[in-house]
Amino acid sequence: MIQSILEKAYFTNSLTKNEIIELLLNKNDKSLYTYADKICKKYKGNFIHLRGLIEFTNVCKNDCLYCGIRCSNKKVQRYRLTNSQIIDCIKTGLKNGYKTVVLQGGEDSFFDCEKIIKIIKQIKQYDIALTLSIGERTYDEYKLFKEAGADRYLIRIETTDKNLYYKMHPNMSYDNRKNCIYNLKSLGYETGTGCIVGLAGQTIESLAQDILFFKEVNADMIGIGPFIPHPETPLANESNDNFDLALRVMAVTRLLLPDINIPATTAMETLRPDGRIIALKSGANVIMDNITLAEFKNKYEIYPDKKSSNRTKETLQKIGLFPSSTKGFRSDNH
Ligand code: SAH
Repeated sequence: MIQSILEKAYFTNSLTKNEIIELLLNKNDKSLYTYADKICKKYKGNFIHLRGLIEFTNVCKNDCLYCGIRCSNKKVQRYRLTNSQIIDCIKTGLKNGYKTVVLQGGEDSFFDCEKIIKIIKQIKQYDIALTLSIGERTYDEYKLFKEAGADRYLIRIETTDKNLYYKMHPNMSYDNRKNCIYNLKSLGYETGTGCIVGLAGQTIESLAQDILFFKEVNADMIGIGPFIPHPETPLANESNDNFDLALRVMAVTRLLLPDINIPATTAMETLRPDGRIIALKSGANVIMDNITLAEFKNKYEIYPDKKSSNRTKETLQKIGLFPSSTKGFRSDNH
């Protein structure tokens, strides 16, 4: 049964919701990972894209229940990087061979449209691809960011279960988040979305729905991370036993979207010391290393004990993988 679903997924890249549920429920069967790895190597080769992540502000107006930098957490020491600090991070990134930089932050209205455009233009003077991850903005702002030179955008839907979405995101709109994703796609961004796996009240069925949503959007990048409870949030006492399920969601996503970019997420590395390697052998082909200046790294605590890996190249070589020499767009396979 499982075998025939996996064969179907491998050859057609499509599955019904019930078939996806079968794969997600089948905890003891490891062949899902083997198939996901096989299809990943077929489409992406033995090459890994390295992205340098810059967490440029931890100020956020939102109050997402799971997130350590939610506005209600008064214990967070808030910071913002200046433009010249951001450029320092870019220079370090370039020196270390990164070909993409990801500018991520809370939803911080200090960084209005004009300020973001200025940062984009400064960054794009260097030969580096730029991914933004700064949350929900209007269509017009996304358009201006694109015109200023941004290449990609990451914004996770987090969950497609509307009720759960509203529980987790006070004062936010599910429809607006979804529209943001479609707007980005229509503006020609390489668009990334994804979900958190293991939120209290999240069902396997809704995770299957999340995967079908990724396929429907034709996302170019998908980030899937296990939920990790943060002590200063209302979800502090929830379970953090979400690694395996997150890995399964990631592997099924790879089977349905064989040529996209999928990171071995930091959250996976945080839950298991070898989490990144396991993910890279189960369908992931991207690593995001934190290149934020050391003094700010620990303050962007969306969840506790967040890992920022180093020695990436050595780790990759040990498992027969190589850093790509390209900027790592969806169509790059070397
Ligand atoms: N403000 C931006 C960036 C958010 S941080 C935005 O809205 O897109 C990046 C991601 O971290 C989030 O999308 C969320 O999925 C993840 N995250 C936040 N808190 C988490 C937690 N406690 N456990 C696991 N992932 C978490």
